[in-house]
Amino acid sequence: MQAEGRFTLDKSRAMFERIAKSIAGGESSYARLKKGLELCFDRGQGSRFWDVDGHEYIDYSLGYGPLIFGHNPPEVTAAVVEAITTRGSVATFPYDLDYEVGEQLVQMVPGVDQVRFANSGTEATMAAARLARAYTGRTKIVQMEGGYHGFSDTHYWSIHPDVYSDNPAPYSPEPRPSSRGIPPSYGEALLIAQYNDRENMEMLFDRYGDDIAAVLVEPIQANSGLIPPEPGYLEFLRDITRQHGALLIFDEVITGFRVAPGGAQELYGVIPDITTMAKALGGGFPIAAFGGSEEVMGLEARNEVMHGGTYTANLVALAAANVVLRIMRERREELWDRLNTYGARLCQGIGDACREAGLRNIVQGVGPIWHIFFAKPGAPDLDRIRNYRDALAYSSVEIFDRFHDQMLRRGVYFHPYHLERWFLSTAHDERDVQETLEAAAEAAEAVAAE
Ligand code: PMP
Repeated sequence: MQAEGRFTLDKSRAMFERIAKSIAGGESSYARLKKGLELCFDRGQGSRFWDVDGHEYIDYSLGYGPLIFGHNPPEVTAAVVEAITTRGSVATFPYDLDYEVGEQLVQMVPGVDQVRFANSGTEATMAAARLARAYTGRTKIVQMEGGYHGFSDTHYWSIHPDVYSDNPAPYSPEPRPSSRGIPPSYGEALLIAQYNDRENMEMLFDRYGDDIAAVLVEPIQANSGLIPPEPGYLEFLRDITRQHGALLIFDEVITGFRVAPGGAQELYGVIPDITTMAKALGGGFPIAAFGGSEEVMGLEARNEVMHGGTYTANLVALAAANVVLRIMRERREELWDRLNTYGARLCQGIGDACREAGLRNIVQGVGPIWHIFFAKPGAPDLDRIRNYRDALAYSSVEIFDRFHDQMLRRGVYFHPYHLERWFLSTAHDERDVQETLEAAAEAAEAVAAE
């Protein structure tokens, strides 16, 4: 843990200034950093990483999730090194790893009979939505307010509207673009719903049922903090989409190969028509996939729907995914026992530590992902957060920021935005858990005393 009082990020700041001269905004993805916290990375190993000032952190951000086995997992690294030194990097022909990874995916993910590879979650989701539109001959995709499916023109809408406003506009099914530069007409192909709200979804199907191609949903909403489905909600989505001839798409970019080897669909036993996967699938190497029943994927098989890319199914990505999936299958009991046990202890312990210090909060988690929502002054007395609107009404940016700062100083890192979530890897151990809970107790006291 860092020694308190001597915590500075001088080298990070100097490096960041240099980077920002050639890299617009100093980073190649929006919102990785927080203003004033321009942490520059040196190296990672297992559950920890080091910044350029030499600080060591227990990492609960894990590259936004891919590092399910922690930083630099030896078996994955070895497989990638072997692939690139003995075979090359880009194949652009079918080869053995296609079926090795493909067959493992089909075995592991209940809703997947056939897959296609992609390079990122953004791409996989765009491909899935296009497939659903082609299959149904309809246009509109329903997605959840506060959900995230990548930064594309087609999905980067209504992500966290008015999150910093004291006077947020009320919910509307009409989407709102979350970036400048998105053609307004793309919004006509979307509808915005509230996660965990059945009446809201029924209303949308009553009004627009004949135009809805699919409901696209993170089965556990993991981009507004961490919000599990209410009992029966996923089953309800399965039923209502089927009744109206629409498809159900699970975006399992975060939940896949994480809450269970077969994702949230395995955990909850609800099988979507199309699944998107990324992050943990590559264990840190860039790969994504989308898949579904043979009937739906038949449109891809016959090239009636276009999906492609120079780097899809490249050797590096498939060599990594091949080992990741093999390890998960061979050691599933042990790995998920560990993830679930440590996840539950951290989730409970962090919430308790903050409550004991007088910081009102709600902690929600599913296995190795969780989040802490701190109550803002005057927050409604909720017992859980069910959707983005609850998170908006309840969650304090300021207390979260202060807690984050105090944890950082004590060598614990999680994403600095108050509506991301914490990730756990199989590399985290007893010592990490102990140190994190001690840090949380001290950090909470420090925030309460400020
Ligand atoms: N879907 C979900 C649920 C995500 O969380 C993300 C990324 N955080 C994406 C899609 C986009 O994935 P990528 O960043 O790999 O494009």
